[in-house]
Amino acid sequence: MSRVLVTGGAGFLGSHLSDKLLNDGHDVLVADNFFTGSKENDQHLSQNSRFKIMRHDVTFPLYVEVDQIYNLACPASPIHYQRDPVQTTKTSVHGAINMLGLAKRVGAKILQASTSEVYGDPEVHPQPESYWGRVNPSGIRSCYDEGKRCAETLFFDYRRQHNLRIKVVRIFNTYGPRMHPNDGRVVSNFIVQALRGKNISIYGDGSQTRSFCYVDDLIAAMTSAMDTSDGFTGPVNIGNPSEFTMLELAEMVLRLTQSKSAITFSPLPQDDPKQRKPDITLAQNSLNWQPKVGLEDGLRETISYFKSKLL
Ligand code: NAD
Ligand code: UDP
Ligand code: UDP
Repeated sequence: MSRVLVTGGAGFLGSHLSDKLLNDGHDVLVADNFFTGSKENDQHLSQNSRFKIMRHDVTFPLYVEVDQIYNLACPASPIHYQRDPVQTTKTSVHGAINMLGLAKRVGAKILQASTSEVYGDPEVHPQPESYWGRVNPSGIRSCYDEGKRCAETLFFDYRRQHNLRIKVVRIFNTYGPRMHPNDGRVVSNFIVQALRGKNISIYGDGSQTRSFCYVDDLIAAMTSAMDTSDGFTGPVNIGNPSEFTMLELAEMVLRLTQSKSAITFSPLPQDDPKQRKPDITLAQNSLNWQPKVGLEDGLRETISYFKSKLL
């Protein structure tokens, strides 16, 4: 059993990860500045003596004693990471330096929650880990994309220079219960709009694609990546390769919620990737993992969560 630090553990993925780690018998310490996360996400864990949550911004040093670190701290939705873009880059870059410094001092294993955004608006489809990406270095998404790319660089340099035990996972679009109703990402937006009878807001003509992974599948892959032998560093893609257009997603949400909402179209934001789909061959082979939950089943779970939240 290990003492595990989860940065960003009050967020959507971090709260599910904390559940899994506690279930697996570990002690969990969450460090979060509550920029997009909230204590409410971890409320059900507050009575667990193996769980602790502290307000902390990862751009500042942190001195704790742990065996493993999952570095998830970073706003993930475009509207939130673009709200204070300088802080977003600092969170990825200074946050990575501090967490790597901590891992180095205490000899902890450390996993970075990287992203499919490192591939930018990709010319290679689906995206394998060997693809270096097509990222605008000075656009409105760059604070997130380049911050995450630099964090990967730091992870691999701490490995080469200090022999740290690192794991880098590149997460593709993931959804599920505990996404914030105002999170701004497409799945939560469409579900909340459909349940409230508001227009479904498609950006662009809806022909852009994403591949959506249900949160439970994602968390299983993340902990499997942490448990690989020290020789395995990644980067490894984790996500569900079933690809959908945003129009298909909107229609599926309307059908499953039996909503009468209309669909509206507005301009596509700058640098919005046109297509995205993970090549998960490496994850299948090295983590012995593959996603189990299809989009329709995952949406049903997520819709019933939002129904209970919005009532
Ligand atoms: P989220 O916004 O729900 O969670 C992020 C958490 O990090 C929040 O609790 C927030 O308060 C915290 N945080 C932000 N800045 C911080 C700072 N400076 N110090 C401490 N805490 C800070 O998003 P999520 O979907 O749970 O994403 C978690 C991680 O996974 C992020 O690093 C994100 O980039 C990555 N990721 C997520 C997805 C996805 O589809 N959900 C895809 C790719 C990568
Ligand atoms: N750090 C931290 N916790 C620790 C050890 C280090 O937050 O337990 C931070 C420290 O602030 C430092 C950063 O991690 O700036 C990088 O540490 P490292 O030892 O790699 O570099 P150095 O201290 O030599 O700059
Ligand atoms: N999107 C949309 N309507 C929304 C929110 C997002 O059409 O209300 C689109 C967005 O332009 C993008 C896709 O859905 O093409 C996924 O957006 P999201 O912000 O969820 O994730 P990311 O772009 O980071 O993959």
